[in-house]
Amino acid sequence: MAITERLYYADCYLREFQARVIRTSSEAGGVRVFLDRTAFYPESGGQPADQGTLAGIAVLDVVEEGEEVAHVLTESPSTEVVQGIIDWRRRFDHMQQHTGQHVLSAAFEKAGGYKTVSFHLGTETSTIDLDSDRVGAKQIEETEELANEIVFENRPVQISFRPSAEANQMDLRKPAFREGDIRVVEVEGFDLSACGGTHVIQTGAIGLISIRKVDTSKGLTRVAFVCGGRALRRARRDFAILTEAARQFSTGLENVPELIAKQAQELRDAERLRNKLLEDLAELEALELWRSAPERNGSRVVRRLFAAEDGKKAKMLAHAVAKHPSAIALLGVRGKPAGLFFAQSPGGKPNLAELLKQTLAKFGGKGGGAHDFAQGGGLREDQLEEALDFAESLLRVVP
Ligand SMILES: [Zn+2]
Repeated sequence: MAITERLYYADCYLREFQARVIRTSSEAGGVRVFLDRTAFYPESGGQPADQGTLAGIAVLDVVEEGEEVAHVLTESPSTEVVQGIIDWRRRFDHMQQHTGQHVLSAAFEKAGGYKTVSFHLGTETSTIDLDSDRVGAKQIEETEELANEIVFENRPVQISFRPSAEANQMDLRKPAFREGDIRVVEVEGFDLSACGGTHVIQTGAIGLISIRKVDTSKGLTRVAFVCGGRALRRARRDFAILTEAARQFSTGLENVPELIAKQAQELRDAERLRNKLLEDLAELEALELWRSAPERNGSRVVRRLFAAEDGKKAKMLAHAVAKHPSAIALLGVRGKPAGLFFAQSPGGKPNLAELLKQTLAKFGGKGGGAHDFAQGGGLREDQLEEALDFAESLLRVVP
């Protein structure tokens, strides 16, 4: 197996390069191209692969195969010597996030002794997992401050190659487990890590390091963050969202949370008042219905159908009718599916739970209740009238 020379090891800012095609191999939907050297970064250590072009052909993916780097293309280049061009916007964004991660992980270690156990560079945010679920909000804030101080100081980020024995005596935050020469990345006076990734050359180029979210689970704390251009775009989006919220409330940005809380309270108060009014209305309607209801076996039977959206009102009305003496309410609510509410004055003769059970047994649906109140649902709308007829007919056989 050949070894692909990795040009980004020495120069992370190399955007264009020339290389020789060593071999190609076909695979489903494309071809793998192996070069003598490359500036393309293959997916590794939580950092996604580069994109760009080789001989003008789009590079879909870049993967490590042992010591080699495979470039996945849609077709083979027609020449032996090819020009590679890195998608620099994407790569530089990755360099900002990745170098930011070095600084942030070192800051967590210095501020609270927390070790980073994993790193993922995502499309929106990146995450690190810390080896503790007891990282306090104040510690998070202090760590973010420390990390950004290192950015503001614009410290050099240096790369050197050391024999593994020497490298592992250097107090690396992230030790090396391989033999041979180790690539050591140093944020001057702050962090030493064995790392094969791509980094900016000075910490100032990371731009702002902004923590976005903190979650804890199973002994770990997951910290989501954005750096540089992402931090700028995220701040711009946050500002737009908050500005729109403030516009809707006709207020300043700072007053938005207070106004949301105030309006939520007003909404709860209005809901309470609305329910009270509905109950009052149900009482009035119930009285009217009870007065005009026909008597059967010494009871006044109120029978009524409601529109689908009046389910709540129907239930209130059933209870309100039952407050009157010798009353029985058999109420149906239209809709798909339809529902039933049966209620009666306390201690009435028929058992309404039983009445409902028999009705549902005949017409389908589910439900239940007690002697004086029962409710069911899941009936066919076109059988609702028939179901009420049936329930009413059962009342006549009650002795
Ligand atoms: Zn790195």
